[in-house]
Amino acid sequence: MTGRLPCDYHLHTRLCGHAVGDVEEYLVAAERAGLEEIGFSDHLYQYFLPPPERDPGLSMAEDKLPWYVQKILNLSGYGSPVRVKLGIEADFVPGHEEVLAGALSGYPFDYVIGSVHYIDGWGFDNPKQIGRYAGRSIDGLYAQYFGLVQEAASTGLFDIMAHPDLVKKFGYSPDCDLTELYDQTARVFVQAGVCVEVNTAGLRVPAGEIYPAPKFLKICYDYNLPVTLGSDAHSPGQVGAGINEALKLIKSVGYTTITIFEGRRMKTVKI
Ligand code: ZN
Ligand code: FE
Ligand code: FE
Ligand code: ZN
Repeated sequence: MTGRLPCDYHLHTRLCGHAVGDVEEYLVAAERAGLEEIGFSDHLYQYFLPPPERDPGLSMAEDKLPWYVQKILNLSGYGSPVRVKLGIEADFVPGHEEVLAGALSGYPFDYVIGSVHYIDGWGFDNPKQIGRYAGRSIDGLYAQYFGLVQEAASTGLFDIMAHPDLVKKFGYSPDCDLTELYDQTARVFVQAGVCVEVNTAGLRVPAGEIYPAPKFLKICYDYNLPVTLGSDAHSPGQVGAGINEALKLIKSVGYTTITIFEGRRMKTVKI
């Protein structure tokens, strides 16, 4: 990797059951990758399901949240040149907003990333549930997905909207033109005051491109939406992965700054 990288705000740890590595290993990897700042955003427990129905392979256990928070806060005592922020990735499932608000309260998060991983209970980005794409209208799916992303942003519970076109993950493409959906979504983001995540995990899946798509990102730029960067690393080796490509992409649509967070407040950083 060449040069300094401003930030990687989307890091998981083995706590979520499908990633490897402890926070200390991610910090070492970040230093090696030349990152100035990192933020952990492990998967919040499945607050929208009763405890016995929660999948330990998808997110941390509820009783691990205080431990997770403490582990990350402790990292600032390690004397690393990399600044460390405390984030969390929380699923959006309509109808459970109050439970989520309660789950997030009482912790000093620097930012909360909001993710749509479920459409009517279907984990559409889960390889184990890929069979459910069969026979579905992809146009309809896109409309439903972006509707949920807009609803999530409007709750006011999230600072950053994760991988904003995750629905493209497995490469199922709609026939319809997406301009109107992108535009509508960007307008809702403006209203909600959220930041858009430029997430490089898209490079490592069949979609083969960063989330959001260049066309969507350009619209976000035209609406003056702030952006942040994340690799969605699920192993220390992925820390900073694709961040150079993400920087190239955001600059190509016009961005000259990115956004970092402190205590859920945005700060602008020149790139
Ligand atoms: Zn994950
Ligand atoms: Fe996610
Ligand atoms: Fe993630
Ligand atoms: Zn994610």
